[in-house]
Amino acid sequence: MTNLFEDNLNSYEIIWKIPSHGKTLVNQQDNQIFKLSKNKENVLKIGIKDLAKYPFLTEAGEYLANTGLSLEQLSHPDWKPIVEKAYGRIVVASSGQIYGSDLESLDNDSELLSFIVAIILLKSAGIATLIRRFSLAEARRSERFLQQDLWVSRDKKNLELPLKIIQDLFAVKVSIDNDEFVIKVPDYLQRAVHFHEKEWKLVNRRVTNGFVYLSAHETVRLIRAELGEYINGKIQSVNIQSIPQGFKQRVEDLVILAKKFSDTTFVSSEYPPCVKHGIEVLEKGENLPHSGRFLLATYLLSKGQTVDQIAPLFKNAPDYNERTTKYQLEHISGSSGSGTKYQCPSCEKLRSESLCFATSDCDGIINPIQFGKKRKNK
Ligand code: SF4
Repeated sequence: MTNLFEDNLNSYEIIWKIPSHGKTLVNQQDNQIFKLSKNKENVLKIGIKDLAKYPFLTEAGEYLANTGLSLEQLSHPDWKPIVEKAYGRIVVASSGQIYGSDLESLDNDSELLSFIVAIILLKSAGIATLIRRFSLAEARRSERFLQQDLWVSRDKKNLELPLKIIQDLFAVKVSIDNDEFVIKVPDYLQRAVHFHEKEWKLVNRRVTNGFVYLSAHETVRLIRAELGEYINGKIQSVNIQSIPQGFKQRVEDLVILAKKFSDTTFVSSEYPPCVKHGIEVLEKGENLPHSGRFLLATYLLSKGQTVDQIAPLFKNAPDYNERTTKYQLEHISGSSGSGTKYQCPSCEKLRSESLCFATSDCDGIINPIQFGKKRKNK
């Protein structure tokens, strides 16, 4: 018996179970896919449309338990459209795009099931890069719904679900004050410290009585990285012991797809803190300001990396476009445009842009490309 997801949200608990063998996706004792908590106090009634928006919620287990579907049933040719939808969902995510859902016209059961099957395909293929890309893309997909739900519900005073998701998953209590959302200063600072745009600095926010005022978009933007990590953690916890026959072809296709991403940028532990930080931001799918991207490009070019080696680094950026990225990198490298090769910005300039994360290893250097040289020369 292996767990698909195992969660414990306050007093509410559902354990999603998937067997390695057998006729059904069962819990061996009670012959059901999911073991449901007896304590259902504080459980929100969530409809299938909400679960299609937020398929990572533990509450999705209750719905799926009622379907009585087994892993083997899902691998039967009758369910091929779901497997294809799941595969398509991964392919879209791997290209850095967000899988689109028209919840008004689409079959919401297939939205939820394709998410589950996508996880089984990903875990069967076992490729961390694909799992990370899928987690980020699904986080950004759900982020859109969360933002809509906060905004639309605001007038209807029906904020229970979006606020519960934010509170249960990320321990952030969000309240509403007229048209705005408010969170405690420490909750804000803990997350906003990772953003570099000036508008996220506390001095540029409206703060009253220890609370920060935010728009719906800003509220959800604050928890984007955590949402991606949450989904990634869920997927990592899945243990698939054998791949159902009907999934094998698509699992093999994923292995081939992943080869596209094997040509990744070389990341050295010898890079200065500002460069390491920029790479980490991009790896999390966070938005790195243009000045941060310029730093990475000029630094890595100065270290002898090629445009083709550097370009994959930007694939997780929320606004990634392959052609534009290569064009800009070629321009910075001097291989196109005016032919001018741009130099890495100085530490002073990076400090003024809040992109310096100096440690004692920086040792008074004035440009990141000097990082490490002083120590070697001592
Ligand atoms: S001191 Fe220079 S090299 Fe070090 S983190 Fe700051 S900008 Fe980067």
